[in-house]
Amino acid sequence: MSTWNYNTNSDSETLASLIKDADAVVVGVGAGMSASDGFTYVGDRFKKNFPDFIEKYGWFDMLQASLFDFPTTEEYWAFQSRFVKLNYIDQPVGKSYVALKEMLEHTPYFVITTNADNAFYKADYDMDKVFYYQGEYALMQCSQFCHNETYRDDEMMLKMVEQQQDMKVPYDLIPFCPKCNAKLEINKRNAEKGMVESPHFFEQKARYEAFLNEHKSGKVIYLEIGVGYTTPQFIKHPFWRFTCQNKDAKFVTMNQKSYRIPDDIKEQSIALTDDIQTTIVKANHILKEQQHVSN
Ligand SMILES: [Zn+2]
Repeated sequence: MSTWNYNTNSDSETLASLIKDADAVVVGVGAGMSASDGFTYVGDRFKKNFPDFIEKYGWFDMLQASLFDFPTTEEYWAFQSRFVKLNYIDQPVGKSYVALKEMLEHTPYFVITTNADNAFYKADYDMDKVFYYQGEYALMQCSQFCHNETYRDDEMMLKMVEQQQDMKVPYDLIPFCPKCNAKLEINKRNAEKGMVESPHFFEQKARYEAFLNEHKSGKVIYLEIGVGYTTPQFIKHPFWRFTCQNKDAKFVTMNQKSYRIPDDIKEQSIALTDDIQTTIVKANHILKEQQHVSN
């Protein structure tokens, strides 16, 4: 069995030393990482962008809003276009995303994310190393799932934002499926009907699985960042399983809230509970200073 060299002085030092010592890192990113960079679904960000909808429907947050069953397609797109502009097209660069990318520069890594925002593109990741499991906000799919293609039209999305009135977009801006003429909708996994998985989705999936296979042994970190318990079957549970199958692996979970870790991987697990952005930014700084000294 391999021994890991890492220190436990602080969460950032633990993270930096673990990454330095690892052969490979599989990163699972959930909503908590984007929230730590300020891309939250509650508070001012929500209230400023959707005051009219909040007044009409009394929503608590954007998650509830994004799952809402809108009475008309005009209203669906009035909400969705504003949501896509805010959480995708106009999303600023996130500090923790940039720091994480820099920190992994010298280590083989792959990312799987249940987020559908634009954070990885904006932080300039190599997109051949990222797997968007739950779709992306800017993509659209046939609401009848008649074929497996997804569509993107940012220009139309922005027109829907500009031209909407009283929470309705003009009818002639509503997008329809080019094959069956059903309405298009956002490409997003739904608990009942799933989502349209395009050839692009399967390419990402194949690359992810190839990476997992390549790193079944050795000092591998399954690094879970800001993953809650909404959909544990996509990141959390597989990461537990992979850790259990490789006694040299570590399961590292970053979350301010601690979740129960199964007994069989407890000794291989490390929970980092400080603020995600602060920890990653500091850890990156530590690694850079060490590289600077050794050069
Ligand atoms: Zn169709």
